[in-house]
Amino acid sequence: MELIIARTAGFCMGVDMALRKLDQALTHTPRTGNIYTLGPIIHNPQVLQYYAQRGVQQISPHTSLCPDDTVVIRAHGIPLHIQKHYAATGVTLLDATCPKVKKAQVMIQRQAKQNKHLLLFGEREHPEVQGLISYARDYTIFESMDELQSCTLHPDKKYFLAAQTTQDCDMFASISSYLYEYIDAKMTVVDTICTATKERQDEVRHIANKVQLMVIVGGRTSGNTRRLAQIAHESGVETVHVETPDELLLDQVHGVEHIGLTAGASTPAWIIDDVAHCLRTGQKSVSQMGE
Ligand code: SF4
Repeated sequence: MELIIARTAGFCMGVDMALRKLDQALTHTPRTGNIYTLGPIIHNPQVLQYYAQRGVQQISPHTSLCPDDTVVIRAHGIPLHIQKHYAATGVTLLDATCPKVKKAQVMIQRQAKQNKHLLLFGEREHPEVQGLISYARDYTIFESMDELQSCTLHPDKKYFLAAQTTQDCDMFASISSYLYEYIDAKMTVVDTICTATKERQDEVRHIANKVQLMVIVGGRTSGNTRRLAQIAHESGVETVHVETPDELLLDQVHGVEHIGLTAGASTPAWIIDDVAHCLRTGQKSVSQMGE
């Protein structure tokens, strides 16, 4: 069996940076207060479990805090009014928002100041999307071309288009073309999809054309991991999405000559290595983070 592992599999710069900031907070001494994140710092349950065992707690915006506490803003960013709320409480606020998400927030804010209505291609419940819309004056979120086409857009209104940073870039290009053609040939399109996402999606398409089975590794709540699985599936290759090697069905891989392996931007290297080991040997060893 030949196993092709994507060069881009695993942590992107934004996730790596966010976890380094959390590590710094954990090792900073003297420390008297608690360390919190608003929701998960990244979307990978095994990484979250590792940090939970070290005392990092996830909170909601209504959790009461002490001035000694530290709140780490997760990689996806948080809504502007919640960030202001934390800043006013006197806690130590450590901003681990990915610089590319931060850039998308700033670009949206700039367009919104020109009284333009945001058309945002993204998953409405995703925390990054909830953060991005907080920088707009008014907005419409849509999750597909069909949904956009069913929206009533007014020809006399000014719009601009942006996307969640991990959206499918080919679909974003189709959406831009549609809006240019049918709504406004001069509409502002803010390209907020990050290069890490583009590279991962291009590579999964490339590998999917050479194999009979694609294995995608990463959290089920990770939007970019789900998108990799969707792209592989749409390429016409059999695709399985697993969080850990435990979930691999060995019958499914038995006898397959060429297998492709990639992972979302929040999947740690040790899980990718474990899945690769399992595909090569059939043994489901599970390592721990930091081993
Ligand atoms: S996928 Fe891109 S935008 Fe998202 S955290 Fe990684 S580098 Fe940042």
